[in-house]
Formats: sequence, C-alpha cells, structure tokens
Amino acid sequence: MMKPDTTKVEDSDANVQTCMKYCGSCPSYRQNALSRYEPGWLFCSRGTSAAPRMKEAGCFCPACELFARHSLVIGHFCERH
Ligand code: SF4
Ligand code: SF4
Repeated sequence: MMKPDTTKVEDSDANVQTCMKYCGSCPSYRQNALSRYEPGWLFCSRGTSAAPRMKEAGCFCPACELFARHSLVIGHFCERH
C-alpha cells in the first residue's frame, strides 16, 4: 500500500482540475453557488468558502483522490476546516 501523504494539499492547477470533478458535481456546491465566491475550488487547501448562509447538501470529497492521498477526514471543507 502507498504511504499516505500527510502534507497539506498543494494549491496547484492539477489539483484544481481534480477538485472540479468532485466539488463540481456536489449538490452543496451547486445549491450554494460556490463558484461565485472565493476561493472557488480546493477548499481542503485554500480554506472555507466566503459564501454566506451555506446550506448543507452532502459532500463528494470522500470520493476524491486527494482526499485519500492526503488522509483527509470528514470533508465539507467548503464549510469548515
Ligand atoms: S478533497 Fe474536496 S475540496 Fe479537496 S480537492 Fe477533493 S473535492 Fe476538492
Ligand atoms: S467541499 Fe465537499 S461539500 Fe463542499 S463543495 Fe466540495 S464536495 Fe461539496
């Protein structure tokens, strides 16, 4: 088994592309129009969204390869960190 990478998720274009596959299809992302607010993507690296009054509607992070690779837990990084 590959050793998990416990370093911070890098803020890179490649990781944004990965994030778009998961956050991009997440109901919470759409319902809260997160693309309109900073930081837009990569909440696990950049921190929570500036969107006001977020409505909770599930999280696709646990399916994301960065989630597994960096041993992240819980998800919902757009709402809390
Ligand atoms: S773990 Fe979540 S926030 Fe981080 S890149 Fe994957 S889908 Fe995006
Ligand atoms: S961090 Fe989780 S809850 Fe937030 S938009 Fe991404 S997949 Fe959805």
